[in-house]
Amino acid sequence: MNFFILDPYTNNNWRLVKDTAGGYGTGNDFGDNFLSKGLNKFVSKMISMPPMYSMYVYSILKMKNCKTEYSKEFEEEKIKNADYVILTSSIICHETEIETLKKLNSIGKKVFVIGIFGNVMKERYKLKNTHVVKGEPESFFLNLNTTEKKFVDIFFTDDKSEISNSLVVENLDSLPFPDWKYYSSKYDLKNNFLAFNSKIAIPIVATRGCPYSCFNYCTYPLQQGRKVRFRSVKNVIEEIKYWIKNLNTNKFIFRDPVFSINRKYTEELCKEIINENLKINFLIETHLKNLDDELIDLLKNAGLEMVYVGIESSNSEVLGDIKRFTINNDEQYKIIKKLVDKNIYVKSMFMFGNPGDDENTIKKSIEYSAFLPNQFVQYSVFTPYPGTPVYNLFEKKIIEQKYEKFNQYNLIYKHENLNNSKITKLKNYAYRKFYFRVSKFPIIAKSILSLVIR
Ligand code: SF4
Repeated sequence: MNFFILDPYTNNNWRLVKDTAGGYGTGNDFGDNFLSKGLNKFVSKMISMPPMYSMYVYSILKMKNCKTEYSKEFEEEKIKNADYVILTSSIICHETEIETLKKLNSIGKKVFVIGIFGNVMKERYKLKNTHVVKGEPESFFLNLNTTEKKFVDIFFTDDKSEISNSLVVENLDSLPFPDWKYYSSKYDLKNNFLAFNSKIAIPIVATRGCPYSCFNYCTYPLQQGRKVRFRSVKNVIEEIKYWIKNLNTNKFIFRDPVFSINRKYTEELCKEIINENLKINFLIETHLKNLDDELIDLLKNAGLEMVYVGIESSNSEVLGDIKRFTINNDEQYKIIKKLVDKNIYVKSMFMFGNPGDDENTIKKSIEYSAFLPNQFVQYSVFTPYPGTPVYNLFEKKIIEQKYEKFNQYNLIYKHENLNNSKITKLKNYAYRKFYFRVSKFPIIAKSILSLVIR
């Protein structure tokens, strides 16, 4: 049986990653002045990865001895020869994906649509000869009987009453490793900010799910659920060793929504990385409230090089309004300082255009971001996503018709105090103020050099 995984992208001058924002994807549109446009282009050269689930599905089908290809391009001949096409879904490339789906329809292909956005917007993706895969696609394809076409074709008929499978992968250890060797032979797989070189950066996940209160507006719990599922430490270590050996890289990007969500598990994993002397550099995203001196020391010893932390706003009322509960600003400063003193790079992530924001609260957040000792910063825009609980409150206020604009860098709803043009000016101002300081020159120089260092 022959599958073709198609992962189409819209043409933009900025970095598009469908894996972020819980599988809805983000597009780093930093602004529209000269410097912001330069930053858009630069970051698109620095970071590149596909949605992880697409490569998990690739490996599952390969494990089942199905001939499978992955591509970002509409490779007509190969598509014609495939029995089935598997199309990724996202918000950031939504209109492009629908156009692709229509094209596939016109040549009579049977298409499985995978990914959380396809689930949330099922009706939009449901064309003739299309089956929208419910839940995690890994679970569906693990359970799919590929021994005969009749078992697969049933998904394109009305007779699906007998078919049921779990919507999530309960045992994450049952998954094969995503085939990054295959992927990196076709496309870049990189994050040059990690270790400031252009070696392959392996996306890896140890846990799925997030139970925190910000599920109100966040898409990760939609994609992965609010219950945390863990791979065994042994399985994660095996995968790390596998890529060190097979791709000769020591760079790993942990894609867990909150890496240190379970202290005991995190400690075990770090200790094992240290005991096995793996000597890796890794990047995590986590919550500042889950870090303290002892854990930072352990993470550093295991190879933590870079951490992304969500701060969103310096104003506690703005945060309370979106049900984001976190530690106070003094504590944030102390933890970030501790990380930086340990030579760990910190990217603090802020959100503009929160419902309680005005120009003043945003300018205060910009000042606060420059006051914190973090070396990197990200300013995105509050986005009420379809499917999240908060969306019900915003549905009637949405002013942006095109989903591809929901890239976390545009104000897509009618705000009481702000509009998109104001937000763009504030983004331009914020990036200029943060990065174009003498103290940031060494980081900028290192980042540029990473494009040529391997
Ligand atoms: S901590 Fe909040 S923002 Fe981060 S993944 Fe969990 S729900 Fe989403």
